Amino acid sequence: MASLPPDFQQLKQDQLTPFLHDEIAVPDELQANVLITTVDKIYNWSRRSSMWPLLFGLACCAIEMIATAASRYDLARFGMEVMRPSPRQSDLMIVSGTVTKKMVPAIVRIYNQMAEPRYVLSMGACATGGGPFKEGYNVVSGIDKYIPVDVYVPGCPPTPEALIYGLLKMHEKVDRQSVTSVPWYRKDTSQFVPVPRLGPDVFDPRQVDLIKDTTLKAAAATTAAAANGASAGATEHARGPAQLSDKAIARMEEAKRRWREKKGLPE
Ligand code: SF4
Repeated sequence: MASLPPDFQQLKQDQLTPFLHDEIAVPDELQANVLITTVDKIYNWSRRSSMWPLLFGLACCAIEMIATAASRYDLARFGMEVMRPSPRQSDLMIVSGTVTKKMVPAIVRIYNQMAEPRYVLSMGACATGGGPFKEGYNVVSGIDKYIPVDVYVPGCPPTPEALIYGLLKMHEKVDRQSVTSVPWYRKDTSQFVPVPRLGPDVFDPRQVDLIKDTTLKAAAATTAAAANGASAGATEHARGPAQLSDKAIARMEEAKRRWREKKGLPE
């Protein structure tokens, strides 16, 4: 076999981190065919080079995400052009847009259905902290209150360039992981996230102890205030909404009487 061209040797010198190949004797005839690296590097390289995003969008940020996937920015160069409509086959959830209280149970349910390894990127001000709708009656103050987020991309909306920067940061994060310590090969480390329930306000089952504690404390305060004959103001506060006045009760009774009379019902 002909000896290797000198430029190949130079290339190898420049491109590869001197690691094991200095210590492991590779015969000359195999120099062009053998690359020595670590399991972690191959493992992470293959995962980050084919990180399939989940196909869903929530609001205006989704339009920028769609633009990022189109020909001008071309996610295919990162092996990400296959947006999967199924959480079972997705690696990355891009939360792109306003997370409403109605939507958050569905997002958490979909996150639970994704197989490990799974990652979450919060795209835009809304997904990260509520954005312009923060404290709105129908919007949650950030998706990270419900599911773990790996990378945040700021902006309203973030540009496709910003999203790509976030994706590259996600790649860096993947590159830093090691097959020996990733959670998905360990027992009991990949947790099911309780699905919040939609109600007058979103109810997070993880807060159940806190809610119970607060409710019991309030009930105990009411009982104590009543027993001690606390001041009228304090008792009223502990009791909750004020009682109806006699005048209001009389008006209601009169209205009921007139209604019965009109319908011909007995008193
Ligand atoms: S961050 Fe701005 S662009 Fe993105 S969903 Fe919210 S309002 Fe729309």
